[in-house]
Amino acid sequence: MKHALVTGGSRGIGRAVCIKLARMGYQVIINYVSRPEEAQKTLELVREAGQDGELLPFDVSRHEEVCAAIDEWESRHPDEYIEVLVNNAGIRSDSVLAFMPDKDWHRVVDTTLAGFYNVTQTLLPPMLTHKYGRIVNMASVSGLKGQPGQTNYSAAKGGLIATTKALALEVARKQVTVNAVAPGFIETDMTADLDGTALKNIIPLQRFGRPEEVAELVGFLASPQAGYITGEVVSINGGLHT
Ligand code: NAP
Repeated sequence: MKHALVTGGSRGIGRAVCIKLARMGYQVIINYVSRPEEAQKTLELVREAGQDGELLPFDVSRHEEVCAAIDEWESRHPDEYIEVLVNNAGIRSDSVLAFMPDKDWHRVVDTTLAGFYNVTQTLLPPMLTHKYGRIVNMASVSGLKGQPGQTNYSAAKGGLIATTKALALEVARKQVTVNAVAPGFIETDMTADLDGTALKNIIPLQRFGRPEEVAELVGFLASPQAGYITGEVVSINGGLHT
């Protein structure tokens, strides 16, 4: 039995990644924080894809909550481990820095960076012991080039890219790979409030990406076939930033 955990698997890109990993033969652990009905729908889609899965709710930014949930999972699966981790949970809360409320800075940075730390640190030891693991972090074009109105989000995703590279070097000799994916504009709830018509004009491919397209890339990086790729950031942005 091979297990994969996707944080923020209830909707959008995370849901598409769950389905892709199920098609690859993984039992998928679907994390979410606030939308159980959406997580349940993802679980049904995972089952339609031919694998079983389970829901594992926790707020990635809360250390004790993460540890308690993963400890409980491990106690139910004493002889198994989670060999694929997709750190996908993320939020945006945009405003120019001059007017950014303190809580919006911390919420956005903590969801991505504390979330990465909390979940990855908990799941890493068994990957190292088994000398096999795949970690894929969901960054963003904003973390590569910086985006006005998104200093918090750019800091979070830029930090995630840096920690991807650092951790990749730490764990490479144990055959654990760590990579990041940096999407541009993808059609999900997160981008539903954006002016699609105006934005499509600045995207060379003239359209937003689909969650399934990102999931294909994540699936490859999570596969055994990608075993010689580590510490990389792979863009998927329709040519927006090269
Ligand atoms: P989305 O549709 O808004 O979904 C966000 C997901 O993250 C949901 O499953 C949500 O769970 C979960 N989540 C949020 N905060 C969480 C927390 N504290 N703990 C656990 N789960 C949490 O977003 P998306 O567009 O699919 O984005 C997924 C990832 O891709 C994010 O990291 C985002 O920054 C990144 N990204 C997106 C785009 C884009 O254009 N869409 C571009 C670049 C990067 P609930 O359903 O329970 O709320």
